[in-house]
Amino acid sequence: MSKALIVAEHDGSNLNPSTAKTVTCALSLHADELDIVVLGNACEAIAAAAAGIKGVARVLVVDRTENGAPLAAILAPQVAQLADGYDYVFGPSTTFGKDLMPRVAALLGVGQISDIMSVEDPHTFKRPIYAGNAIVTVEAPAGTPVVATVRVASYPAAAADGAAPVENVTVDAELPAHTRFIELQSGGGDRPDLQVANIVLSGGRGVGSAENFDILFRLADKLGAGVGASRAAVDAGYVPNDMQVGQTGKIISPDLYVAFGISGAIQHLTGIKDAGTIVAVNKDPEAPIFEVADIGLVGDLFEVIPELDRQLGG
Ligand SMILES: Cc1cc2nc3c(=O)[nH]c(=O)nc-3n(C[C@H](O)[C@H](O)[C@H](O)COP(=O)(O)OP(=O)(O)OC[C@H]3O[C@@H](n4cnc5c(N)ncnc54)[C@H](O)[C@@H]3O)c2cc1C
Repeated sequence: MSKALIVAEHDGSNLNPSTAKTVTCALSLHADELDIVVLGNACEAIAAAAAGIKGVARVLVVDRTENGAPLAAILAPQVAQLADGYDYVFGPSTTFGKDLMPRVAALLGVGQISDIMSVEDPHTFKRPIYAGNAIVTVEAPAGTPVVATVRVASYPAAAADGAAPVENVTVDAELPAHTRFIELQSGGGDRPDLQVANIVLSGGRGVGSAENFDILFRLADKLGAGVGASRAAVDAGYVPNDMQVGQTGKIISPDLYVAFGISGAIQHLTGIKDAGTIVAVNKDPEAPIFEVADIGLVGDLFEVIPELDRQLGG
């Protein structure tokens, strides 16, 4: 009998959709039991949301004050202890999972498989390498737990009509004292998180300045969209680096991605290849982004964005 454990990602209030996507991947393992663990503080609502994910057998909850902030150093020993008896321990390949899962793997004395994009058989997985230009098939050794991150852009969310039981569990793993939570700063305000937004508008070097990004933020707020950026825009200091999309930024899969003043370098395209529809606005008709865009508009973003803004009511 094989068992899989998924570590839920949440912000203390809401379950991140990356969890339901990780479940979809884990379901393709055809494990006999698939559980989710929620580590948090006063996290009943999050546990209830996790219990609603279809295909989940049980939701384990470790509710304690130390879990009030998602510190990988604090969570990892608890996950490693809970992993006892599980054949698989999966987390999402988001910033949260990339921070946590290698620590879990190290504590369990196994290697980590990163960015699973398909399950070939219970120990064989596909994952992208070289900025997504090649896909490698990797095999995890049998007889030890498989600790992995799941490339959430490769999987749809599992349905939300499940009704798994929720169980409170305690772990007595020793927690380190060398890492403590000080504060959380978030630059995005109320805008949706880039990695889960349905619509993402991104700006590149062509936007020209931090002030000019305001027109993009305004349009995004009208559309309920997240805002991303190219590395050139981040390096120029127009926006913070947590907005970077691409190989060394975030890998995203929105239904609609609109790139303004972005040339379409391979490292940027790596981050958006799973987007549903890609729209590019660039004044250079030869810009490589037009080769991958579903809809391309050769034009000046400083004319196009205000016009879109007007069409949406000013
Ligand atoms: C190891 C490595 C990792 C990298 N990782 C990333 C990554 O994660 N993400 C990433 O984005 N890049 C990454 N890069 C950098 C990447 O190679 C490009 O340099 C970068 O993506 C270029 O950003 P850009 O398209 O904004 O700028 P540019 O290439 O300078 O393009 C700007 C575009 O704006 C257009 N433009 C200018 N003015 C206007 C206007 N008024 N209206 C419309 N269009 C206009 C221009 O025609 C041009 O096409 C990485 C590079 C390396 C080597």
